[in-house]
Amino acid sequence: MSEAFDVAVIGAGPAGYHAAIRAAQLGLKTVCIDRWVDKNGAAALGGTCLNVGCIPSKALLDASHKFRQALSEFNELGIKTGKVSLDLDQMQAHKGKVVQSLTQGVAGLLKSNGVDVRLGRARLEVDNKISVIDHTGNEVSLSSKAIILAPGSKPIDIAACPMDGEQIVDSTGALEFNEVPKTLGVIGAGVIGLELGSVWARLGSEVVLLEALPEFLPAADRQLAKAALKQFERQGLEIRLGAKVINSVPKKGRVEVEYQDNDGKHKVSFDRVIVAVGRVPDIDGLCGDGVALALDQRGAIAVDDQCQTSLPNVFAVGDAVRGPMLAHKGMEEGIMVAERLVGSKPQVNYDTVPSVIYTHPEIAWVGESEQHLTSQEIPIKVGMFPLAASGRAMASNETEGLIKVVAHAETDRILGVHVMAAHGSELIAEAVIAMEFGASAEDLGLTMFAHPTLSEGLHEAALAVSGHAIHIANRKRR
Ligand code: FAD
Ligand code: NAD
Repeated sequence: MSEAFDVAVIGAGPAGYHAAIRAAQLGLKTVCIDRWVDKNGAAALGGTCLNVGCIPSKALLDASHKFRQALSEFNELGIKTGKVSLDLDQMQAHKGKVVQSLTQGVAGLLKSNGVDVRLGRARLEVDNKISVIDHTGNEVSLSSKAIILAPGSKPIDIAACPMDGEQIVDSTGALEFNEVPKTLGVIGAGVIGLELGSVWARLGSEVVLLEALPEFLPAADRQLAKAALKQFERQGLEIRLGAKVINSVPKKGRVEVEYQDNDGKHKVSFDRVIVAVGRVPDIDGLCGDGVALALDQRGAIAVDDQCQTSLPNVFAVGDAVRGPMLAHKGMEEGIMVAERLVGSKPQVNYDTVPSVIYTHPEIAWVGESEQHLTSQEIPIKVGMFPLAASGRAMASNETEGLIKVVAHAETDRILGVHVMAAHGSELIAEAVIAMEFGASAEDLGLTMFAHPTLSEGLHEAALAVSGHAIHIANRKRR
């Protein structure tokens, strides 16, 4: 006889634990199953995001940024320090403490909301049954009226540079280095490559990023991508575009990487290599015999806009389904599915998912880019504000970057906002809210922003859409 639940969630990453907590809050008898254990074999809830993703990477990004500031920027602000040096063990210990405290926090939240948590590997069986095998090999069977699949994603391993966990690592390995590699190769100049490349470059590595595409950050606004490329190169990241890695050979404690670009084949040798070429849904072994769960062309679980899978009463959320692999997107999907189970009708707005690259400055955007809208022949107006003209940016010595508002030329509705700025991840939230409420550039221009703040840059960029910005030279006079 299997234990019966109203809702069973497979995976306690951001998508799964949000679904489970909301379902329990709504009075549904909920179980959440996850297999992740820490180095001591204890449950470590929170998935990729808390254990080896968003949180540990930001702990290292923030710490390494402060290290860089102490080394080279404090002096300019009149702050004298003694000799600044790196204690990598302590930096890693800080990161570990943050991760532990947050994973335990998720366990506490699930418990206090009445979610039954099971540690083990879950498999979806026919007739809404789930088998759970724990770490001792013990198997139990559960049944549930509704099942939410949230198994997340895993890094792509490429044959041209197979990971060995020592010299050639994925993002998880790159968060764990216990010494700063003298030379570091990063395959892929996407989000992970730029964030982790930045961490180790700030701590002293000579970093080379090999990116197969000829264009830098193709999903970002072109002007921002161009400015960001210059800025990152100034920070010591060497970014080789159009460089497709085709082979690698570990050699005497180093790795020789071969890549091909328009000029032919090249070899370059590194102490360590991070492979950061994307992630894929982690669904191996998720379904038992006879479970016909449909996948899409990318190998993700096929779902509709409400995260319904091909199976009745089975839903899927987060990185395992279509859309950007972002924690906040999965969280909102988890909540949407839980609420729809009790008859509410929320809908995730996929048009306002913010993207952030946590470099310095941060690159953030929401909505469509200027180039995409132009290619679609949608008439647009663009307002831009350089942070060099912001009083607050000057006061805090963070003048690199710009804020750009793209609005429809006829309706003035905001279609996209693009930011390159310190704290860009916080600034973009204002744009998301504006777009969620269908704001026009004029609406933002008529809104009062506190002075002096970086947010005023968004206000000015919105005013600039119709040529009314106060702090930049305008040609239009109306
Ligand atoms: P996951 O977080 O991957 O969680 C899935 C969970 O399911 C895991 O705990 C796994 O153990 C469990 N599971 C899987 N299969 C089974 C099974 N059969 N039985 C039991 N349990 C199972 N996103 C952002 O938005 N912002 C960031 O700053 C950011 N930084 C990142 C940095 C790095 C280095 C990486 C790798 C990713 C980052 N991401 C970031 C992406 C983010 O981590 C993911 O989008 C997010 O974790 C996806 O959430 P999820 O719940 O879908 O899956
Ligand atoms: P990505 O898709 O952002 O970048 C991978 C890059 O690798 C691409 O630019 C691709 O062209 C390149 N590439 C692929 N094969 C190559 C080869 N053989 N040689 C050279 N270059 C090659 O993927 P990622 O950086 O691995 O990140 C994975 C996912 O994790 C992303 O979807 C992202 O959303 C998520 N993530 C988000 C954040 C954030 O929100 N700040 C941070 C980290 C990760």
